[in-house]
Amino acid sequence: MKAAGGEGALASARVRERMVARLRAAGIRDARVLDAMAVVPRHAFVDSALASRAYEDSALPIGCGQTISQPYVVARAIELALAGRTDAKNMKVLEVGTGCGYAAAVMAQVFGTVYSIERLRALHERARSNLRALRLSNLHLVHGDGSEGLPAQAPFDAIVAAAAAADVPPAWLDQLAAGGCVVAPIGDHAQRLLAVRRDGSGRVRRSDAGQVFFVPLRSGVQ
Ligand code: SAH
Repeated sequence: MKAAGGEGALASARVRERMVARLRAAGIRDARVLDAMAVVPRHAFVDSALASRAYEDSALPIGCGQTISQPYVVARAIELALAGRTDAKNMKVLEVGTGCGYAAAVMAQVFGTVYSIERLRALHERARSNLRALRLSNLHLVHGDGSEGLPAQAPFDAIVAAAAAADVPPAWLDQLAAGGCVVAPIGDHAQRLLAVRRDGSGRVRRSDAGQVFFVPLRSGVQ
């Protein structure tokens, strides 16, 4: 990623270091995730009026009724996708729900190749402009309905969803490589962050990483 210079950049790097210390204290252990969270400028993904709150551990509005995910949840979802993997730079990952592009930028620091799909054109375009200065050549943005995954680019080593479905869409499981994992908020009202792993023989195992609050997964594009 291109390094930004100047005093402002230094100050924001310090605030991010504090955010990373809080993530560590909250139980995020994977250095690959913490290092990525330390470099991606979250303030560049929110409206300038909210920039001073960008490193709080909260979701913030990004327009179109959607929100940028909480840093802890972004970190935890990526950590789950990485569990037991030493080959992050060879992993191909799909994010469903680009939003403003923040989590996609963090994932592009961690994984070899990242596709991120967004159903709302206005947000897809906003993410593209937010991400331009970061020059992440391994990150590919797609405008489309991610509830069907992204068959043209499958299989994926992980599919990470930023919008909640009532249950894991079968298309996501179908598009997982052996040893791959879906990390997604699942449930209508009380959502749980689930990691659904597919082993070499095609068996599927679910684990529950606790309660989360996400916007709903919707079908169709706009
Ligand atoms: N990853 C974002 C969070 C975005 S919020 C971040 O870093 O902050 C979730 C996003 O999922 C919203 O922008 C919403 O429009 C999008 N979304 C909901 N249903 C979708 C679908 N079926 N396909 C693609 N995107 C979807």
